[in-house]
Amino acid sequence: EPTIGVLALQGDVREHLAALAASGAGPRSVRRAEELDAVEGLVIPGGESTTISKLAVAFGLMEPLRARVRAGMPVYGSCAGMILLADKILDPRSGQETVGGIDMIVRRNAFGRQNESFEAAVAMTGVDGPPVEGVFIRAPWVESTGAATETLAAYEGHAVAVRQGALLATSFHPELTGDHRVHALFTEMVRSAR
Ligand code: GLN
Repeated sequence: EPTIGVLALQGDVREHLAALAASGAGPRSVRRAEELDAVEGLVIPGGESTTISKLAVAFGLMEPLRARVRAGMPVYGSCAGMILLADKILDPRSGQETVGGIDMIVRRNAFGRQNESFEAAVAMTGVDGPPVEGVFIRAPWVESTGAATETLAAYEGHAVAVRQGALLATSFHPELTGDHRVHALFTEMVRSAR
């Protein structure tokens, strides 16, 4: 089974570890550079992207993360994790950096105050069967994407799931549902990157 890390600095780490275990992966928490070296793929969880960014710098993980992404390691980011995978944030907070890798611009907290949290059925390319139950919590959307990206899902005209090579990002949180098809897709991406 592929060894897949979950970046365990802040956010819903435990839920991703459980979803990965249910998807046939061997999940590990990653907090240190040595732990990053030991995984074949990585999940960046939902949480607070500025906090995750600052902790990644403080823990000496930001440059190793960028190096692994450049070297082709598969990474899946949900919500705050999507923001961390974006090459550019439209409205970054001060001191907020990203790992980058996906040629896209994201807008943080994009769905507005009335819509801070909601659920919606989202049809997603690469996920067979009924639509995914999209749980959106102060979610970003994708403002624009470059030519190398593929939009896998959209909601109300905005891209909410994007893939570029071995990198996958969703605005929503499949780890908070009992449906592990997105994690299974990512586990398959890690397997085929071997
Ligand atoms: N709004 C958060 C951020 O900007 C993301 C929210 C989430 O991950 N649920 O980081």
